[in-house]
Amino acid sequence: MRSAVMVAIAGVTVIARASSTVAQEVPASPPVVGVLVSNRANLRPEMLKAAEDDAATIYRVAGVQMTWVNVRPTDVGYDYAVDFIVMIVSGKEAGRMAARSDQDAMGFATRDSNDEAGRGGMAFVLFDRVEDSASSHHVSISRVLGQVIAHELGHLVLPGNSHSERGIMRAKWNLRSGLLEYFTTAQAEIIRRRLAPRRGSLP
Ligand SMILES: [Zn+2]
Repeated sequence: MRSAVMVAIAGVTVIARASSTVAQEVPASPPVVGVLVSNRANLRPEMLKAAEDDAATIYRVAGVQMTWVNVRPTDVGYDYAVDFIVMIVSGKEAGRMAARSDQDAMGFATRDSNDEAGRGGMAFVLFDRVEDSASSHHVSISRVLGQVIAHELGHLVLPGNSHSERGIMRAKWNLRSGLLEYFTTAQAEIIRRRLAPRRGSLP
Protein backbone atom coordinates (compact mmCIF):
# COMPACT_ATOMS: atom_id res chain seq x y z
CA MET A 1 0.00 0.00 0.00
CA ARG A 2 2.67 2.43 1.00
CA SER A 3 4.57 2.19 -2.27
CA ALA A 4 1.35 2.57 -4.25
CA VAL A 5 0.59 5.81 -2.43
CA MET A 6 4.09 7.13 -2.99
CA VAL A 7 3.89 6.32 -6.66
CA ALA A 8 0.53 8.05 -6.93
CA ILE A 9 2.10 11.21 -5.54
CA ALA A 10 4.85 11.07 -8.13
CA GLY A 11 2.33 10.68 -10.97
CA VAL A 12 1.42 8.08 -13.59
CA THR A 13 -0.38 5.98 -11.02
CA VAL A 14 -1.56 3.09 -13.17
CA ILE A 15 1.70 2.26 -14.90
CA ALA A 16 3.85 2.63 -11.83
CA ARG A 17 1.57 0.37 -9.75
CA ALA A 18 1.68 -2.29 -12.43
CA SER A 19 5.47 -2.35 -12.39
CA SER A 20 6.26 -2.21 -8.69
CA THR A 21 8.98 -4.83 -9.12
CA VAL A 22 10.84 -2.48 -11.43
CA ALA A 23 10.50 0.36 -8.93
CA GLN A 24 12.05 -1.80 -6.21
CA GLU A 25 15.19 -2.39 -8.24
CA VAL A 26 16.07 1.30 -8.11
CA PRO A 27 18.54 1.90 -5.29
CA ALA A 28 17.97 4.79 -2.85
CA SER A 29 14.86 6.69 -3.99
CA PRO A 30 15.47 9.11 -6.81
CA PRO A 31 12.76 11.63 -7.70
CA VAL A 32 10.31 10.03 -10.13
CA VAL A 33 9.17 12.19 -13.02
CA GLY A 34 6.23 11.37 -15.31
CA VAL A 35 6.46 12.57 -18.90
CA LEU A 36 3.64 12.30 -21.41
CA VAL A 37 5.00 11.95 -24.94
CA SER A 38 2.60 12.88 -27.71
CA ASN A 39 3.84 11.14 -30.85
CA ARG A 40 2.32 13.53 -33.39
CA ALA A 41 5.03 12.72 -35.94
CA ASN A 42 3.91 9.06 -36.08
CA LEU A 43 7.31 7.69 -35.20
CA ARG A 44 7.83 3.95 -35.05
CA PRO A 45 7.36 2.80 -31.43
CA GLU A 46 10.82 1.15 -31.41
CA MET A 47 12.51 4.39 -32.44
CA LEU A 48 10.62 6.37 -29.83
CA LYS A 49 11.43 3.78 -27.18
CA ALA A 50 15.15 3.93 -28.02
CA ALA A 51 15.06 7.73 -27.77
CA GLU A 52 13.24 7.58 -24.43
CA ASP A 53 15.78 5.06 -23.16
CA ASP A 54 18.61 7.47 -24.04
CA ALA A 55 16.82 10.40 -22.38
CA ALA A 56 16.12 8.24 -19.31
CA THR A 57 19.81 7.29 -19.12
CA ILE A 58 20.79 10.98 -19.15
CA TYR A 59 18.38 11.67 -16.27
CA ARG A 60 19.29 8.49 -14.38
CA VAL A 61 22.90 9.64 -14.30
CA ALA A 62 21.61 12.94 -12.86
CA GLY A 63 19.74 10.95 -10.17
CA VAL A 64 16.21 11.15 -11.57
CA GLN A 65 13.93 8.33 -12.71
CA MET A 66 11.84 9.04 -15.81
CA THR A 67 8.49 7.37 -16.51
CA TRP A 68 7.10 7.72 -20.02
CA VAL A 69 3.48 7.67 -21.09
CA ASN A 70 3.17 7.48 -24.88
CA VAL A 71 0.05 8.73 -26.63
CA ARG A 72 -0.84 9.03 -30.31
CA PRO A 73 -2.72 11.94 -31.87
CA THR A 74 -5.77 9.69 -32.09
CA ASP A 75 -5.80 9.12 -28.32
CA VAL A 76 -8.24 11.65 -26.96
CA GLY A 77 -9.42 12.55 -23.51
CA TYR A 78 -6.40 11.35 -21.60
CA ASP A 79 -6.02 12.58 -18.06
CA TYR A 80 -2.71 11.12 -16.95
CA ALA A 81 -1.02 12.61 -13.93
CA VAL A 82 2.30 13.66 -15.43
CA ASP A 83 4.83 16.37 -14.67
CA PHE A 84 5.80 17.32 -18.21
CA ILE A 85 4.49 16.97 -21.74
CA VAL A 86 6.66 16.39 -24.82
CA MET A 87 5.08 17.00 -28.23
CA ILE A 88 6.94 15.50 -31.18
CA VAL A 89 5.76 17.26 -34.31
CA SER A 90 6.66 17.11 -37.99
CA GLY A 91 5.56 18.40 -41.38
CA LYS A 92 3.25 21.39 -41.57
CA GLU A 93 2.54 21.40 -37.87
CA ALA A 94 6.27 21.60 -37.14
CA GLY A 95 6.66 24.32 -39.78
CA ARG A 96 4.18 26.54 -37.99
CA MET A 97 5.86 25.91 -34.64
CA ALA A 98 9.36 26.41 -36.04
CA ALA A 99 8.49 30.08 -36.45
CA ARG A 100 8.63 30.27 -32.65
CA SER A 101 12.10 28.78 -32.37
CA ASP A 102 15.63 29.61 -33.45
CA GLN A 103 16.40 29.10 -37.09
CA ASP A 104 18.00 25.70 -36.67
CA ALA A 105 16.74 24.64 -33.22
CA MET A 106 15.48 21.06 -33.01
CA GLY A 107 13.04 21.93 -30.25
CA PHE A 108 11.86 24.48 -27.74
CA ALA A 109 10.16 24.50 -24.37
CA THR A 110 7.50 26.58 -22.71
CA ARG A 111 7.25 26.37 -19.00
CA ASP A 112 4.45 27.23 -16.63
CA SER A 113 4.46 30.79 -15.40
CA ASN A 114 5.54 29.72 -11.92
CA ASP A 115 9.29 29.78 -12.44
CA GLU A 116 10.08 28.14 -9.11
CA ALA A 117 7.93 25.09 -9.72
CA GLY A 118 10.56 22.71 -11.09
CA ARG A 119 7.74 20.63 -12.55
CA GLY A 120 5.31 21.51 -15.29
CA GLY A 121 5.54 22.80 -18.83
CA MET A 122 5.69 21.54 -22.38
CA ALA A 123 8.58 20.68 -24.64
CA PHE A 124 8.27 20.57 -28.42
CA VAL A 125 10.50 18.55 -30.71
CA LEU A 126 10.71 19.52 -34.38
CA PHE A 127 11.24 16.05 -35.78
CA ASP A 128 12.19 16.99 -39.36
CA ARG A 129 15.16 18.93 -38.03
CA VAL A 130 16.13 16.01 -35.79
CA GLU A 131 16.09 13.73 -38.81
CA ASP A 132 18.17 16.16 -40.91
CA SER A 133 20.70 16.62 -38.15
CA ALA A 134 21.02 12.87 -37.56
CA SER A 135 21.60 12.12 -41.22
CA SER A 136 24.10 14.93 -41.76
CA HIS A 137 26.12 13.78 -38.72
CA HIS A 138 25.70 10.05 -39.41
CA VAL A 139 24.17 9.48 -35.99
CA SER A 140 21.03 7.42 -35.39
CA ILE A 141 17.79 9.40 -35.31
CA SER A 142 16.79 7.97 -31.94
CA ARG A 143 20.10 9.09 -30.42
CA VAL A 144 19.55 12.69 -31.52
CA LEU A 145 15.87 12.57 -30.59
CA GLY A 146 16.59 11.27 -27.08
CA GLN A 147 19.06 14.06 -26.48
CA VAL A 148 16.69 16.72 -27.80
CA ILE A 149 14.00 15.42 -25.43
CA ALA A 150 16.46 15.47 -22.51
CA HIS A 151 17.69 18.96 -23.45
CA GLU A 152 14.23 20.51 -23.78
CA LEU A 153 13.04 18.88 -20.54
CA GLY A 154 16.20 20.35 -19.03
CA HIS A 155 14.93 23.81 -19.94
CA LEU A 156 11.74 23.05 -18.02
CA VAL A 157 13.52 21.78 -14.93
CA LEU A 158 16.49 24.13 -14.71
CA PRO A 159 16.23 27.87 -14.02
CA GLY A 160 16.18 30.31 -16.97
CA ASN A 161 19.20 30.72 -19.27
CA SER A 162 20.16 27.13 -18.62
CA HIS A 163 22.54 26.64 -21.54
CA SER A 164 26.03 25.65 -20.52
CA GLU A 165 29.35 25.29 -22.31
CA ARG A 166 29.50 21.56 -21.73
CA GLY A 167 27.13 18.62 -21.72
CA ILE A 168 23.53 18.12 -22.74
CA MET A 169 22.59 21.78 -22.14
CA ARG A 170 25.04 23.11 -24.71
CA ALA A 171 23.28 25.40 -27.17
CA LYS A 172 25.11 23.65 -30.01
CA TRP A 173 26.05 20.01 -29.68
CA ASN A 174 28.91 18.13 -31.13
CA LEU A 175 26.93 15.25 -32.60
CA ARG A 176 29.83 13.73 -34.47
CA SER A 177 30.85 11.38 -31.68
CA GLY A 178 27.37 9.87 -31.41
CA LEU A 179 27.93 9.60 -27.65
CA LEU A 180 25.34 10.74 -25.13
CA GLU A 181 25.86 14.10 -23.48
CA TYR A 182 24.97 14.52 -19.79
CA PHE A 183 24.08 17.25 -17.32
CA THR A 184 26.99 18.83 -15.48
CA THR A 185 27.40 17.97 -11.80
CA ALA A 186 26.03 21.38 -10.82
CA GLN A 187 23.03 21.03 -13.12
CA ALA A 188 22.30 17.51 -11.83
CA GLU A 189 22.28 18.84 -8.28
CA ILE A 190 19.78 21.57 -9.17
CA ILE A 191 17.60 19.08 -11.04
CA ARG A 192 17.47 16.66 -8.09
CA ARG A 193 16.66 19.50 -5.71
CA ARG A 194 13.91 20.96 -7.87
CA LEU A 195 12.34 17.59 -8.59
CA ALA A 196 12.53 16.26 -5.04
CA PRO A 197 9.05 15.48 -3.70
CA ARG A 198 7.85 18.30 -1.49
CA ARG A 199 6.77 16.57 1.70
CA GLY A 200 4.99 19.61 3.09
CA SER A 201 2.62 19.89 0.15
CA LEU A 202 1.07 16.42 0.13
CA PRO A 203 -2.73 16.29 0.12
ZN1 LIG B 1 18.38 24.90 -25.44
